[in-house]
Amino acid sequence: MSDSKKTGQNADEQKIMIGLEIHASLGTKTKLFCACTTEEAEPNSATCEVCLGHPGSKPVLNKTAVEFATKIALALNCKTNESFFFSRKTYFYPDMSKNFQITQYEIPLAEQGFVELPLGKKVRIRRVHMEEDPAALIHPNGMGKSNYVLIDYNRSGLPLVEIVTEPDIESPKEARDFLDKMENVLKYLGVLKGENPLKVDCNISLEGGARVEIKNVSGFAAVEKALNFEIIRQKQEIRMGKKVEQHTRAYDAETGLTVALRKKETEEDYGYIFEPDLVKIALSEKEISEIQKTMPELPDSKAKRFQQKYSLAEYDAKVLCADFELGKLFEKMVELGAEPKTSSKLLTRELLAVLNHDSLELSEIKVFAKDFAELVGLTVDGKVSDKNVKNSMINYISGNKESPKQFLEKNNLLISSSINADEIVEKIISSNQKAADDYKKGNEKALNFLAGLVMRETKGTLDPKKAQELLKSKLKKADK
Ligand code: ADP
Ligand code: ZN
Ligand code: MG
Repeated sequence: MSDSKKTGQNADEQKIMIGLEIHASLGTKTKLFCACTTEEAEPNSATCEVCLGHPGSKPVLNKTAVEFATKIALALNCKTNESFFFSRKTYFYPDMSKNFQITQYEIPLAEQGFVELPLGKKVRIRRVHMEEDPAALIHPNGMGKSNYVLIDYNRSGLPLVEIVTEPDIESPKEARDFLDKMENVLKYLGVLKGENPLKVDCNISLEGGARVEIKNVSGFAAVEKALNFEIIRQKQEIRMGKKVEQHTRAYDAETGLTVALRKKETEEDYGYIFEPDLVKIALSEKEISEIQKTMPELPDSKAKRFQQKYSLAEYDAKVLCADFELGKLFEKMVELGAEPKTSSKLLTRELLAVLNHDSLELSEIKVFAKDFAELVGLTVDGKVSDKNVKNSMINYISGNKESPKQFLEKNNLLISSSINADEIVEKIISSNQKAADDYKKGNEKALNFLAGLVMRETKGTLDPKKAQELLKSKLKKADK
């Protein structure tokens, strides 16, 4: 085997290491170090001397931001530090007028946590710390299309929490699973701001190579794609006998490629110094336990409770709780009297199938627990076939105002009573004696033929399986 071939094979078997740095925007009312609003406002109107970085202005720490950040740390199973402080990170760029960012470096808010993935693997969290967002740079007509740039300081000083993982993630898919799980936990906490509160920096290395950082990827699907591309690119470099050097890249969502930005500076290069305008913060055990008391039930314990209380399968309970909105909807339906197992099946199979098909999120559409509970009731009473459950669901999700029940009634799709089905089956048998005899003689196809006639007669309201069962039982009885 040639040398290059060998390298090629090794490249395919190489262990992948991925570590993520996630910036989460907190949903506090005011900024991290001043009283300016975090709400949308005219550019540069939500500002003051602190977030504009005027010399001599003094930052004051937002207590709610500390509380929110602590909730995140606890939910990610981290150990909080008894006392921590802020540091100045040297940062010379137009979006940071002070020329330093107030962040945490030496002793962060919390360390050593983990997130457990659906299959049980634990991804370790290295640290959770607070920092201020820089201002927003606005490139008129797009990046590089103008010879000037605008700055909006409304974003300057917004509270961020940075979550740093250990490089425990072993594939792009696993990175996505991790982010989905973590986002869901943060959603349960109710501490995030707006629609897209998470931004991700991805670090990735192949065995023996240096780490490459892909900055600021937005969207979890994009994270997976960027990492997939980067693996192919790094493998190619290795095959061509090159060495992967440590550097920073950007991801272009349009082309799906990553491009080199700069040689990676290390954290030491930032020349951190202690922030003298903020005192050291002590979080006592008492304060932590106060915060702990206000923590909502998180996905894993909710799934366990669903399993026990409603006798759901572990998998179904986990699927219900993997989406905050879905779990909430399920419990509302049960409160309204819907049978739990049928409710779970309706949501995890039918509803999710329709949503996935239309690439929709539950939070994007308007649905009422009452309408679903009604549909569960009809299903339990055997008044609607599986096929029509699905049809009523599609109609409901497509934005039609009518509830599934209204849809079924309007289109005559409800099975009025079981006697009716009985009668129809008897009628079909007596008017198709030959097929009935054929079946009795062992011709299975004859049963399908009869079932088809029953289905046509009931306008598809009867479940095909039910039709076959009814036919079989009647044909047996007639035999005796
Ligand atoms: P820096 O100080 O330059 O930001 P860190 O050591 O703090 O670098 O690591 C930043 C991120 O890079 C972390 O998420 C970490 O898990 C990840 N990381 C570190 N080493 C590797 C590696 N060899 N491959 C992939 N990711 C890595
Ligand atoms: Zn301000
Ligand atoms: Mg870093």
